[in-house]
Amino acid sequence: MDFKVPDRLTCPACGSVEAMACAFPIRSATTDGKGALMFDCADCGTGRTVYTEDLSGCYEEDYYSYSPEGYSSRRKFLKGLMYKYLKFLPRSISHRWLTVVPPGRTGKVLDVGCGCGNSLDVWKRIGWQTFGTEISEAPAKICVANGHDVRLSFKPAEAFAGSTFEWITLDNVLEHVEDPGELLAELKTAMTEDSVMTICVPNYGGTPSRVFGRYWDAILPEQHLTHFTRKGLEALIGRCGLRVKATSFQPRFHLPTDNVARFGQPAELETAQALAQKWKKSAVARLVTGGRMTEADGYFMTIEATL
Ligand SMILES: [Zn+2]
Repeated sequence: MDFKVPDRLTCPACGSVEAMACAFPIRSATTDGKGALMFDCADCGTGRTVYTEDLSGCYEEDYYSYSPEGYSSRRKFLKGLMYKYLKFLPRSISHRWLTVVPPGRTGKVLDVGCGCGNSLDVWKRIGWQTFGTEISEAPAKICVANGHDVRLSFKPAEAFAGSTFEWITLDNVLEHVEDPGELLAELKTAMTEDSVMTICVPNYGGTPSRVFGRYWDAILPEQHLTHFTRKGLEALIGRCGLRVKATSFQPRFHLPTDNVARFGQPAELETAQALAQKWKKSAVARLVTGGRMTEADGYFMTIEATL
């Protein structure tokens, strides 16, 4: 890999060629502020991590979705129960509380980057035929042992060539890939007129990202490459020939303070934490009272797309 900072960067979301500029050096507990820069797009607000040093190496061991223990069978059972009764709730409500909500029918689901299959286990429980792709062997084996058709591949549509799916999910996956547009375009070939694609990503346009700035925990410099705003992700979906059906935002109940604690509370973070506390109160109040959830409220953002 080349670690020279590029003179010009194309926005991975909206495709702007001139709009990306260096915004800040990324800080994280593991990299100690070295090795990565954030470039922001002046057109759509999307951010892109640019490596100036090799930060690879801690991906597989540390990443939570690769830990089968990270998701207890009790939690899976409760989640299965919750999703089973979801169909009795209007989608305007379920989308506020949950990042990834299945379409109101069953069929074949393809979970791209399925990890140990925690979601597939739940979808199977409520009647879906479960398929997935993974780039890492150990979690893929766990999925197969649990009865899911999971293949090792960077190219999901190619791995299941000739198949189409009623539902395709990318749950906190698109921000990891080198070329998100290429992946979406590939997945489009596995969709029919009736298919839904659900994409959930950390929301770079939300208040938590804005107040924590370089300390925002979802920047994860070793793993996350693209940091989407609503404008950016909607533009990307359009550029791939897909249609945005619905966009929703979800808050998070515990604040992103892990990185903060490890930096020993620099002064700029005290202000950020106070602002974030305020955000949490207002976002959670709106969530509970049924007020409109805006981009600012979302720690996560979910977009449903169709052909
Ligand atoms: Zn852009």
